[in-house]
Amino acid sequence: MIRVEGLTKIYGHGEAAVKALDNVTLEIKTGEFVAVMGPSGSGKSTFLSILGCLERPTAGKYYFDGREVTSLDEEELAALRNEKIGFVFQTFNLLPRFDVLRNVELPLIYAGVPQKERRERATALLRRVGLEHRLYYKPPNISGGEQQRVAIARALVNDPAVILADEPTGNLDSRRSHEIMAVFQELHAEGRTIVMVTHEPDIAAYAQRILHFLDGVVVREEAVRE
Ligand code: ADP
Ligand code: ADP
Repeated sequence: MIRVEGLTKIYGHGEAAVKALDNVTLEIKTGEFVAVMGPSGSGKSTFLSILGCLERPTAGKYYFDGREVTSLDEEELAALRNEKIGFVFQTFNLLPRFDVLRNVELPLIYAGVPQKERRERATALLRRVGLEHRLYYKPPNISGGEQQRVAIARALVNDPAVILADEPTGNLDSRRSHEIMAVFQELHAEGRTIVMVTHEPDIAAYAQRILHFLDGVVVREEAVRE
């Protein structure tokens, strides 16, 4: 599903240059659930941004489903991102003035899906994450765990093959974190590929494999016992 070869990302130039990723080569199989760990500044977010086609590598190759992403133009990258990838962030990134239903519908509005279908799909996903009683609430008026479930519903609205999550439980207490991981386990069980950055070992333990980053390099890979 995902293969990177010699992936390198350098920010800045000359003396100020920072090598955020240094020659990373690895593969993530279709349907695999992978956690990414490592200290702050080790390159985790950069890795996820490149996998999500939000940033381009300085050097190296990235293959998504056999296609060489590094050769795509901006329009093709945007299409790949919208059709195949769902993002979940630590800070939820919801629009505070729109209700929950509209937040989930938003990607479908951009995609030109008719209103009735939008509403049905968004409502079904919100029901799935247990939020059918929150459709008309605005994000600031629901809990953090509920906001993250809205963000997951939104990430699923285009039925993506791959979910990329950057510290999805970073702002949640332990109980809510495990509730969110229960949702991730379901997404994994239905065959989606998940790559999740986390600082928390008990959250990483939900994955099948843990990649440990240090100074832009994968220094250790760990298989999680089921
Ligand atoms: P992590 O997610 O593990 O904390 P990052 O990928 O955010 O690590 O950062 C890796 C390194 O790259 C750090 O030294 C960070 O300061 C640097 N970095 C990340 N993004 C940028 C950027 N946009 N401009 C300059 N340096 C950056
Ligand atoms: P995280 O905990 O998610 O790794 P960071 O503080 O490392 O958060 O980075 C947050 C954002 O700021 C990232 O999108 C990264 O690209 C950007 N960033 C990180 N370090 C720098 C930097 N030195 N200069 C500019 N942007 C940076």
